[in-house]
Amino acid sequence: LGNSHFSTATEPSFNRRNSSRVPNLIGGTFVDSQATAAIDVINPATQEVVSQVPLTTNEEFKAAVSAAKKAFLSWRNTPVTTRQRIMFKLQELIRRDIDKLAKNITTEQGKTLKDAHGDVFRGLEVVEHACGMATLQMGEYVTNVSNGIDTFSIREPLGVCAGICPFNFPAMIPLWMFPIAVTCGNTYVLKPSEKDPGASMMLAELAMEAGLPDGVLNIVHGTNDIVNAICDDDDIRAVSFVGSNTAGMHIYARASAKGKRVQSNMGAKNHGIVMPDANMDATLNALVAAGFGAAGQRCMALSTVVFVGDSKSWESKLVERAKSLKVNAGTEPDTDLGPVISKQAKERIYNLIQSGVESGAKLLLDGRNIVVPGYEQGNFIGPTILSDVTADMECYKEEIFGPVLVCMKADSFDEAIDIVNRNKYGNGASIFTTSGAAARKFQIEIEAGQVGINVPIPVPLPFFSFTGSKASFAGDLNFYGKAGVNFYTQIKTITQQWKDLPSGSGVSLAMPTSQ
Ligand code: NAD
Repeated sequence: LGNSHFSTATEPSFNRRNSSRVPNLIGGTFVDSQATAAIDVINPATQEVVSQVPLTTNEEFKAAVSAAKKAFLSWRNTPVTTRQRIMFKLQELIRRDIDKLAKNITTEQGKTLKDAHGDVFRGLEVVEHACGMATLQMGEYVTNVSNGIDTFSIREPLGVCAGICPFNFPAMIPLWMFPIAVTCGNTYVLKPSEKDPGASMMLAELAMEAGLPDGVLNIVHGTNDIVNAICDDDDIRAVSFVGSNTAGMHIYARASAKGKRVQSNMGAKNHGIVMPDANMDATLNALVAAGFGAAGQRCMALSTVVFVGDSKSWESKLVERAKSLKVNAGTEPDTDLGPVISKQAKERIYNLIQSGVESGAKLLLDGRNIVVPGYEQGNFIGPTILSDVTADMECYKEEIFGPVLVCMKADSFDEAIDIVNRNKYGNGASIFTTSGAAARKFQIEIEAGQVGINVPIPVPLPFFSFTGSKASFAGDLNFYGKAGVNFYTQIKTITQQWKDLPSGSGVSLAMPTSQ
């Protein structure tokens, strides 16, 4: 398998390199980019520079695609059982190194160590799912579709596929992508987020340790130019994207204009409808956890609460609970919220809070201007709650992607459903109620792809798919689950005739029909 880079050392080999530059991974070798331009990866709690991400040159990008193209020739013919076995090994290695992965995520992304474990674990579940690929990738068979003729279908890999990642889940999202793709028999070019590439590098190294042959998984770093090169490249057959709408719609348009398959998971504004009959204690706990966990930087963060009728009076209790959360560096024990990713993100969130205040929302809890002792330079924002928010306000229309909970009110359940359905996004929506009838109505009428009933963050496990809808998704085959396998495979049908043919039956030029 050509594992010349194989490492049994305790630190990943790319970390042991003398350079603080993050290497690319091309054809099984970690190589430094020749590019002069690079971006600093910054620890959001301290502002320390962790490493530098190169803006990979076009030649290096082409070399990665060509390594993937070459590896596809033998990888596509490698038995599916062998491919699965590598995933079995990979899941074992991820478990072995989960603490190291989590530490890297906290350093580069800022989330708490516990949350970083969750980031790895939710990705690990996709690897476990890929272990059953032989069954997932099965075709279909109909015997005797015509006399002596059978038709069957097989699901073949596409070839070279590519994935473009966001910053907020540095392990989970790369693991939504390459394990399914390569276990289907494709080869891969991954572009991690330039803000936190470390987890992708560690995962790639583990994949090679698990036996993934050289060139099956390649990594190139960079930003817009490299993404555009991925969209334009004739050898890349499919593109998976997770990130903002601006980038996602651009990538969807540009790559599909080249005839590629694209699955694009994008932004969100997830609502939680609180009915007056809900269990108050459990609901408030769920709202605080789902609104402020990961400092609100989850695409499934429950960032908008719609209080129906009398449940509005629970707002003050929500504020009390949010106040008790501890804001600190993700490495400190008992931290509830770490910093947001960058100074720019912090400024953007500040502006959205301010715009809410200026347009008439009530600031029930202001997390701006908090100072975290020992981490004075960190990009911290404390839990913030805006109340009496209306649908025309900027703080409602924009995805805030920070620890800000926006509260609205509705006089009736129908009005609450209407608020959610008018929002352009459709990633997730939840209802909190003890009424089965209300829950059922919500499930049927709500226009969001992932519905929670007394569950604040209804992200399904990988045997289902991640099913955001409306402006939160472009494409038609979702990430992981059956849809994910369909995305990374194309169907070939074979029609075969095996029978003793009577001689002298003549030639018929009519369209063949079933006999
Ligand atoms: P982002 O769009 O800024 O970056 C994502 C990727 O796209 C990065 O690799 C980046 O280099 C690249 N990119 C950014 N701008 C580009 C451009 N103009 N042209 C080409 N490439 C470009 O997103 P982010 O800030 O890293 O992530 C946060 C966003 O991701 C939020 O909107 C969040 O809701 C979304 N998200 C969605 C899901 C989901 O499954 N729906 C999951 C996680 C995150």
